[in-house]
Amino acid sequence: MAEAALLLRGGSVWDGSEAAAFAADVLIRGRRIEKVHPSQLRDVKDARCIDVTGHTVIPGLVEGHAHLPFAHKANMADTGDIPPEEHTLLTLLHARTVLDAGFTSCLSGGSAKPRLDIAVRDFINAGHAPGPRLLAASPELTNTGNLGDERRLHLYRESIAMVVDGADEMLRTVRLLIREGVDTIKLNVSGNQTIPNARSHITVMREDELATAVETAHAHGKRVAAHVRAAASIKLALKHGVDILYHCEYADEECIDLMEAARDRIFVAPAIGLLHALLHEAEPWGITYDKAAATGVADQFEQARRVFPELRKRGVRVLIGGDYGFPWTPHGTNARDLEHFVQFLGYSNAEALRCATSVGAVAMLLEGQTGFVREGYLADLLVVAGEPQNDVRLLQSAANLAMIIKDGSIHRSRFATSH
Ligand SMILES: [Zn+2]
Repeated sequence: MAEAALLLRGGSVWDGSEAAAFAADVLIRGRRIEKVHPSQLRDVKDARCIDVTGHTVIPGLVEGHAHLPFAHKANMADTGDIPPEEHTLLTLLHARTVLDAGFTSCLSGGSAKPRLDIAVRDFINAGHAPGPRLLAASPELTNTGNLGDERRLHLYRESIAMVVDGADEMLRTVRLLIREGVDTIKLNVSGNQTIPNARSHITVMREDELATAVETAHAHGKRVAAHVRAAASIKLALKHGVDILYHCEYADEECIDLMEAARDRIFVAPAIGLLHALLHEAEPWGITYDKAAATGVADQFEQARRVFPELRKRGVRVLIGGDYGFPWTPHGTNARDLEHFVQFLGYSNAEALRCATSVGAVAMLLEGQTGFVREGYLADLLVVAGEPQNDVRLLQSAANLAMIIKDGSIHRSRFATSH
């Protein structure tokens, strides 16, 4: 029996390339896009037909720095307090929330507990629950006293991290996490604005620790993502072959040159949404602009506005998204990042949308499979009211996401179907 087909008729297609949108019908059969046809397809007898006039068919979005286990807690220790069973269910819930928001893929930037991403990825892939394609990360591998170490001398506390000191411990931990099934090892190399004795401009992780992690992950065909804010951290990450660099606000000229030289190998994501929210939208949780600025967030935001327009010019592959899952950056609002790219980082609407689609697909290791509306590609598609390539803000409203298709299956649709 032939596989059921789905015909999206009468809309326009923004295919993920630099080409302008064009009128076309899109025929989906099974998991794949069978035809992108510039004039009306009349003779598809076995297809369910949906009139998408006034809408644009675009590739599904990719969140480049997901933390699906983040449970809208203000601090890391409260996240650590969640028992693994409840935490797994919450992670699965958030997976559905981001798919509802149009994100058909998530590259995880850290999994809070070792098997949350892994279990949820496998559960979704087995077809047991809706969710995006997910590349599972390890928890953040951090050092004593750095971001994610919430312990006190008198008090053990879990967090979002595993605390690793020394190259031997790093070797064991990375091997253990690869045994458990992670796709990506996450390292906290720099400090953070929230850590009084290890602020963002400090490189905490030692070179032999970082080198061991990358060498071990790469030996198993796994990638490494790193929380790098300080220039010295960025240089260390690039020297040893880290694949995905998050934040990077304090990149100096030398860093930017090195990133350009590595642009065919690396991905970078600013996680600009969190900085913006901490400065301007976190007051209901007691974080005023002045409080955030006092810990360096305003400076980081300005530094990101210096670095990322330059990376854009140099052709470095930049991903949208990042660090959603705090009370002030709830899951499902991830598309807000596209507007930030346009408003603050010098991207056009279409460029920001390519970061979220065709660039993201390569970061997901799905080059040639997703990221474009093209014949033969997997049907990860959104049908959006209006022209999101000319106004990415449209993607922030669920009301505009008329249809979400992942892997050829309709996840959500507000259309009636007819033959
Ligand atoms: Zn993060």
